[in-house]
Amino acid sequence: MNIVYIGLGANLVDPQAQLIKATNALSTHPAIKSLVVSSFYSSKPMGPQDQPDYVNAVARFETALEPEALLDQLQDIELRQGRVRKDERWGPRTLDLDILLFNNETISTPRLTVPHYGLCDREFVVFPLLELAPQLVLPNGSTLKQIADKLPKNGLTTLPSKEIKEIL
Ligand code: ATP
Ligand code: MG
Ligand code: MG
Repeated sequence: MNIVYIGLGANLVDPQAQLIKATNALSTHPAIKSLVVSSFYSSKPMGPQDQPDYVNAVARFETALEPEALLDQLQDIELRQGRVRKDERWGPRTLDLDILLFNNETISTPRLTVPHYGLCDREFVVFPLLELAPQLVLPNGSTLKQIADKLPKNGLTTLPSKEIKEIL
């Protein structure tokens, strides 16, 4: 089994509900086992600022799928939740599912870069990931803790679990 971490993000059409729907899709997926999801976080948008704040989380699971087959499944969930791909980079979206880590592998293909190229710079990835894997060591040998210690939070806040449960 492969151990995978993915990042989840949304900022349109009830973003918390989008993340809950996505975690349900993952937990009921026949090829995905042992799903664990971090707290949900509120974060400031990257790029264009004239868009709503994001809700982010990180999930860990096991799967026998190969990396690109997993990407197909994640993109299928994005599309089912109304993701429309536009030319604008980092524009608003109903759901984004990015593969952060795939075992301890480094992958570089036309469709896939793993670890995700933004992993170490994005507070809305590093802090939720740290919650799930405080001892994590990246394929390049850096510890996640070292990265988190140097990274500004940029307004990142944890959403209270009460708020999360209210929409469940
Ligand atoms: P960013 O990659 O900066 O977070 P984004 O998530 O909005 O931006 P998308 O439109 O979701 O970008 O994806 C664009 C392409 O990125 C996808 O079609 C996919 O082939 C490619 N990609 C490369 N590496 C990854 C990865 N690790 N996880 C998900 N998609 C990836
Ligand atoms: Mg992304
Ligand atoms: Mg993406």
